[in-house]
Amino acid sequence: MDYKQLEALDKQYLWHPFTQMQDWLAQEPIIMAQGMGNYLFDVNGKKYLDAISSLWVNIHGHNRVEINEAIIRQVQTVSHSTLLGFANVPSILLAEKLVAIVPGDLVKVFYSDSGSTSVEIALKIAFQYWQQIATPQRNKTKFISFKNAYHGDTIGSVSVGGMDDFHETYKQLLFETYEAPYPYCYRCDSSESRCSNTCFYKLETIMKEHHEEIAGLIIEPRIQGASGMITSPPGFLKQVETLCREYGILLIVDEVATGFGRTGKMFSCEHEGVSPDIMCVAKGLTGGYLPLAATLTTEAVYQAFLGEYNEKKTFFHGHSYTGNQLACSAALASLDLFEKDRVIETLQNKIALLTSLLVPFRDLCHVGDIRQQGLMVGIELVLDKRSKQAYGWNERTGISVCKDMLDKGFLLRPLGNVIVLVPPLSIAEEEIADLLENLKQSIIKVTGI
Ligand SMILES: *Cc1c(COP(=O)(O)O)cnc(C)c1O
Repeated sequence: MDYKQLEALDKQYLWHPFTQMQDWLAQEPIIMAQGMGNYLFDVNGKKYLDAISSLWVNIHGHNRVEINEAIIRQVQTVSHSTLLGFANVPSILLAEKLVAIVPGDLVKVFYSDSGSTSVEIALKIAFQYWQQIATPQRNKTKFISFKNAYHGDTIGSVSVGGMDDFHETYKQLLFETYEAPYPYCYRCDSSESRCSNTCFYKLETIMKEHHEEIAGLIIEPRIQGASGMITSPPGFLKQVETLCREYGILLIVDEVATGFGRTGKMFSCEHEGVSPDIMCVAKGLTGGYLPLAATLTTEAVYQAFLGEYNEKKTFFHGHSYTGNQLACSAALASLDLFEKDRVIETLQNKIALLTSLLVPFRDLCHVGDIRQQGLMVGIELVLDKRSKQAYGWNERTGISVCKDMLDKGFLLRPLGNVIVLVPPLSIAEEEIADLLENLKQSIIKVTGI
């Protein structure tokens, strides 16, 4: 089938995620056909450096033979059998491996298939925990969430989200949370000239006043991804953990975007020695090959769900494809590659290079802020650098920059007017240099010097 036929069929039958389909119908879509290493190829043979890791999931590049072979071996054994009431081999091996590499005291693994479901599970577990611990605290039914947070698109995960553009529409469907400010230092709304830790004090106030009704707090550790790569100052996550302990609130860390090396350590929590009660992982878990997620908990959380059958302390949750063998096999192969390729070790020079190459971007007239955690980067473009005035939603400046990059063979997708770079961990230093040089030219071309 040629491009024109595929395009027509796509436009006839598909509804794309987070996409205004009216715009989609008016443009020529890029139709991917193949992946190899850090590159994707469309059906017309055009090559793109996958600078967003296919939306932050890819880790070791596309078409890695080790992951392919693990999946093929598993297909030839069994592709899926249920985890409801039965066990399977790859899910056992993967759970052991995950517990060995995650931070803190997380010792139990509950599988699902997307970041959103891993968050739903975390919320339900935290809620149910307080209802059935030895001394139940039945009023602990609420959550603390953060401004600009993103935890997925299902109703529970949207309820703890804080992105007005995405979440406002569904407001009447959502449960209410106590929303704390997340430090967005570039656009700090405090009137003080120097940081007075307002975010921390506001969070502390919420906890002080309401801790008796709060079951858990959910946070993206050290960087909020989807809202524009908003990095919190070092130490903030640790302060959040300390407050949670002080006020008896379960700490849920959403490592869906940050997990598996993306920030330069295996998990973002490790940068601050934080031990969550519950942790969500998804995106990079299978190296970006198959949908798989996990919600990990401590022994104490798990223990609250043990009881006689008729006590109904069971965790009543489970998806059809929970613990899927193909996905778990891909994840095992991906974790093996972390060891074999010494990924975390070799990552450090790449991160340092990226940091140094971002420095000259600060001189560009319309680059307001540059934020980075490891291989996650956000470059915030602004209309006016001095007043920090944003570009209008309609100007689509971020989209124009990414469009120019696409023409040159770099696959990017912005978050509003924040240009996002999340390359695979396997990106080479020359590719980083090439990517940044081209990006600088595209920003200048679109926004002017
Ligand atoms: C992407 C993301 C999610 C949602 O994951 P899906 O697999 O898209 O459902 C949740 N939390 C964070 C921090 C994310 O970046």
